[in-house]
Amino acid sequence: MKVAFATLGCRVNIYESEAMTEKFKSEGYDVVDFDEKAEVYVINTCTVTNMGDKKSRQYISKAKKKNPEAVVAVVGCYSQTSPDEVSAIEGVDVVLGTRNKGDIVYYVNRAMDTKEKFVVVKDVLRNKVFEELKIEDFEGKTRAFLKVQDGCNRFCSYCLIPYARGAVCSKNPETIIDEVNKLADNGFKEIILSGIHIASYGVDLEERKTLMDIIEEIHKINGIKRIRIGSVEPRFFTDEVIEKMASMEKMCPHFHLSLQSGCDATLKRMNRKYTAEEYFNTVVKLRERIPNVSITTDVIVGFPGETAEEFNETFNYLKELRVAKMHIFKYSPRKGTKAADMKDDVHGTIKEERSKLLQELDRENEKNFIQDFIGEKLEVLVEEKLKDDNRYIGYTSNYIKVIIDSTEDIVGKIITVRLIENKGDYATCTIES
Ligand code: SF4
Repeated sequence: MKVAFATLGCRVNIYESEAMTEKFKSEGYDVVDFDEKAEVYVINTCTVTNMGDKKSRQYISKAKKKNPEAVVAVVGCYSQTSPDEVSAIEGVDVVLGTRNKGDIVYYVNRAMDTKEKFVVVKDVLRNKVFEELKIEDFEGKTRAFLKVQDGCNRFCSYCLIPYARGAVCSKNPETIIDEVNKLADNGFKEIILSGIHIASYGVDLEERKTLMDIIEEIHKINGIKRIRIGSVEPRFFTDEVIEKMASMEKMCPHFHLSLQSGCDATLKRMNRKYTAEEYFNTVVKLRERIPNVSITTDVIVGFPGETAEEFNETFNYLKELRVAKMHIFKYSPRKGTKAADMKDDVHGTIKEERSKLLQELDRENEKNFIQDFIGEKLEVLVEEKLKDDNRYIGYTSNYIKVIIDSTEDIVGKIITVRLIENKGDYATCTIES
């Protein structure tokens, strides 16, 4: 039997697809590419934007075209928030939500045997139990995403995720350490701690552990050379956390701090829990205490009520902040959120113009950030070989992408390189002995 996966969205979904893959393999399934003919197709969906829903639907129809007899299972955020819509799509046989992905093989096998449709979506807003999905190996990868937390209690006014993922729940600390030990035994050098809102890690645990406690435990594990964390908000970085991070040699100096807007009035409408000034001060402190630190961020343009003045405030703020990379999103309303009921008074063409302006700034900032390291010696974890070429892609600890020439297979190794040429969004380098 063959199973094929399509995974949309964030690192948490990537992690959960890997975990489901391991479950299928342990039941004797072969995992094949989504373009191949398979008996089972799993679509792990995303609903963060309207585009996520649309792509999910495209994958469903692609699966049915590849094999009309296949069992098609749809799981994840889109099926959690719109189970009726998803189950009504022609060809869908199994619909699961975000907190029962571990049951996937059971329901797929039942759908295959009975030819019945199964729609099993739990009420995540009441569910406070972390669904244990373990991973021991990420096929063909050198970095392992480790999901340590699920859910979000923040309810930013534009975001559907708290409805799709439910309340904060955290993975048991001992299970995390056990899993990281296994990943280290399997040769993984870098761990990326992921979650929906990882800064909230531990708030639901009886034994009040924090994300920082977990990082300190992982730091002690031999074999793990790098630790990265997923997206956090500025308030996570208290002075104490910054000092601890600064003293940990395995902690990658790369932090993704979601900003969304540099204007306080917009942040307030978004229900974000910090001011633009607080954010700025956090970045200044991180830069002072952690050498070579790279800050990346997310920005939404065209949020309801974003006037030209408000956008200019954000633009000038970002110009001064000079982050290494921005992910820019044009606001699109998500039904069921507070912002969807606000008057979406920013026209699509204005959103497009604002997005273009920020993209230009982003290209300039990224190039300038890389330029600061040209001529420097840095360590790189080599991730993959480029096709039909003796060139490899790797990342520095502060997340600069580098292309390395080598006749030797260096995938999975940490090597020292000197950056020689700035290509805008990556650098070329020479290997140093
Ligand atoms: S913090 Fe805000 S944007 Fe992030 S998942 Fe929670 S509600 Fe969504």
